[in-house]
Amino acid sequence: MMGNGQLSITMLGTGSPRPDLERSGPAQVLFIDDLPILIDCGEGITAQLMKAHIPPQNIKHLFFTHLHSDHFFGYGQFLLGGWGLGRRELTIIGPKGIKEFHETLVRMFYDDISYRTSLGRPGNGVLDVKIIEFDQSGRVEVDIPAQVIAAEMVHNVPTFGYRFQTDEQAVVFSGDTAPTPAIIELARNADILVQDAGLAQTAVYRNTKSVELQNIWDNLQKEHCTPAQAGEIAQKACVKTLVLTHFLPNIDEEETYQEAACTFNGEIIVGRDLHVIPVAQAITKQY
Ligand SMILES: [Zn+2]
Ligand SMILES: [Zn+2]
Repeated sequence: MMGNGQLSITMLGTGSPRPDLERSGPAQVLFIDDLPILIDCGEGITAQLMKAHIPPQNIKHLFFTHLHSDHFFGYGQFLLGGWGLGRRELTIIGPKGIKEFHETLVRMFYDDISYRTSLGRPGNGVLDVKIIEFDQSGRVEVDIPAQVIAAEMVHNVPTFGYRFQTDEQAVVFSGDTAPTPAIIELARNADILVQDAGLAQTAVYRNTKSVELQNIWDNLQKEHCTPAQAGEIAQKACVKTLVLTHFLPNIDEEETYQEAACTFNGEIIVGRDLHVIPVAQAITKQY
């Protein structure tokens, strides 16, 4: 289904698996006009929604890019907390495995859910969650006013980037990925690309003498992008605005911006939690 929807993004969590007071776990809200759609559900996301003045119970669609813990840690609270606030329907969409994940969680909380239904709350919105699973790139049929395309990324579990397209506008979320032609293709001419730049350097890794940390850093090169690689993807895809995200604690934002600016001529935003980014906003530099 296509729509004329005006798209905007609220960055809820721009962090990574590392606990961080400044950055919550990965998640964004895409608005299609007034319809909020959640992309990933990292740690602390229900509170982040409330801070952004988006009632958690208003979210009826949640897309998972992949099943790494940093992208789903917040799902328990979102599922039960949002239901407690009055959400009575939910559809989750994502790679094969989300059904098992969701059902395991509901099993774990079954007694808790039963207690709350015994108080008089209907089970709708938690016991009847609609699940749309897929295992390959292509169109995803979801009842929202935008066309959705999923494309498989390069990461160490099945991971899909998403393109949301209305008549006029397109927004793309890479999820976690190493550089791949698939993200360039998916992001072609998009208004906004929200891109993994998880390899933005931090002092912790730069100055490390620890063989263990050095090893981890080397291995991460196969799973994520540097800001320069993110810029290269945006440049090749001809996107208008590049939003960098998935940061380790204490990145240098200016350096991260400059690294991406070496490879990308368009607008660059170093994502911060609770950042609101509408399509077609004219910003030359923001972080
Ligand atoms: Zn991941
Ligand atoms: Zn991640």
